[in-house]
Amino acid sequence: VRPDPERGARVAADDRAHVLHSWSAQAKISPLPIAGASGSWFWDYEGTRYLDFSSQLVNVNIGHQHPRYVAAIQEAAARQCTIAPSFADESRSEAARMIVERAPEGMAKVFFTNGGAEATENAMRMARLHTGRHKVLSTYRSYHGATAGSIQATGEPRRWGSEPGGAGFVHFWGPYPFRSPFHSTSVEEECERALQHLRDVVMVENPASIAAIVLETVVGTNGVLIPPDGYLAGVREICDEHGILWIADEVMCGFGRCGEWFAVDRWGQAPDLVCFAKGVNSGYVPLGGVVVSAQVAATFDERPYPGGLTYSGHPLACASAVASMRIFEDEGILEHVRKMADTVVGPRLAEIQEKHPSVGEARGLGMFWALDLVRDTRTHEALVPFNASGEAAKPMSELVAACTSRGMWPMTHYNRIHVVPPCTTSADELHKGLDILDAALDVADAHVTA
Ligand code: PLP
Repeated sequence: VRPDPERGARVAADDRAHVLHSWSAQAKISPLPIAGASGSWFWDYEGTRYLDFSSQLVNVNIGHQHPRYVAAIQEAAARQCTIAPSFADESRSEAARMIVERAPEGMAKVFFTNGGAEATENAMRMARLHTGRHKVLSTYRSYHGATAGSIQATGEPRRWGSEPGGAGFVHFWGPYPFRSPFHSTSVEEECERALQHLRDVVMVENPASIAAIVLETVVGTNGVLIPPDGYLAGVREICDEHGILWIADEVMCGFGRCGEWFAVDRWGQAPDLVCFAKGVNSGYVPLGGVVVSAQVAATFDERPYPGGLTYSGHPLACASAVASMRIFEDEGILEHVRKMADTVVGPRLAEIQEKHPSVGEARGLGMFWALDLVRDTRTHEALVPFNASGEAAKPMSELVAACTSRGMWPMTHYNRIHVVPPCTTSADELHKGLDILDAALDVADAHVTA
């Protein structure tokens, strides 16, 4: 990689002058100009390389610039870049078939979108039309996207800026054994109490008004919260009892992140609608969608589906999804993810938890892990307060700096550092990144008070 700081300075100057960035006070950011990326690495114009332990926004599951994948996209671009959604297109047909073949039982069709928010937005629309009901239940500590409805379903501070929203969005608590909202003392108790809480919420909200319960199968940005065994089966039961649809938001946890095509496969459960994006094609071309059960799809056999997008089922995006799924299979990427979880990431993070008092809990599966950092080892007081920024978030910004200055780019959210590298990351690379994390955590340990 030949450094080119002048070019980097131009990229940065144009960015500051003309790009309006997501979720940011524009005057307070200085985005790092990126010159290139390959595999699990990316680099800046100074020639500094970073091991990508974030997969960007937890979406580059196949790794950066995968050569066979890039070639497949080039070939697809030469063949057919675009055609309107009203036609039948070979790449779109094939992508839909392949996704349904890999999806949980009972799935029949795919509605394609450009990304995750449009997927949850359309899943909720389908659920409302199918049930004739309007309410949507979702958990606190969730993210479902930033469009009008998906941001209302979101259960964390990113929603606050869009309030007040429309009526009919209700939030409840999902299971989180390490910080139990139910004061439970075991995972089994957490599961039981979380389900009872959901039953109570459904009861007092009027089950006959509830169209859907939306859940991230494994909660992503808000903590890599893995549902206790039995929780999803319980949700399925509650939904069936009241004619409510279960929407699984697998935008982050699907397509390899958990070592499965779909995370629900871990628990053998079948939702009514499954939202996907990110890992389906690693974002080389924007793509998302909703996998729809035969029953819900039938609602729109005679009655028009009142929703659409100019780029629904975009041929180039769909061709990339087909190529990505094939590469995942040919290269055994799902198996690699499971193996790395069992032999490298899981054991190393357990050691790191033992060694560092700031690590309250290390949890995860597949290539989807989080360290829940604490200031107080007994009370689990978080290393930085909920929604902390600026000075209050300093222990976390120091930790990030300790990682990036050593050449590892982590993902963090409040008091957590997430270990979410591309699904193709090698054992050596994982060890390298985990060595850096291990060394960097001394910075967090220094803030532990008890
Ligand atoms: N749902 C989940 C679980 C997500 O993690 C995200 C994005 O991070 C979304 C939905 C929204 O996806 P997008 O940013 O592609 O609109």
